[in-house]
Amino acid sequence: MTSKICIKCALTKHLDEYRKGRNSCKACEAATLKEWRSANKEKMEASRKVWSYVNKDSVTDHVREKKIVNESAIFSMVEYANFVVWITPNF
Ligand SMILES: [Zn+2]
Repeated sequence: MTSKICIKCALTKHLDEYRKGRNSCKACEAATLKEWRSANKEKMEASRKVWSYVNKDSVTDHVREKKIVNESAIFSMVEYANFVVWITPNF
């Protein structure tokens, strides 16, 4: 077997077009990821902010300075609480 049918686009493609063990082709996976990213842009941004908030002691002085300059970028506790609700199932 050197080719299989993609479960997403239903085209018969060579195994090289698939990542190991996947049933959708690389092109379809890339499209799905792109879609997911744009649909979850806010969540990704929130998670990035949480990371830097939680790790604020480990961020460099350079980043900290930048944060102080850009007050609006500082992550508030309210936003953090909302994020915890989002990431915690059955919260
Ligand atoms: Zn496909």
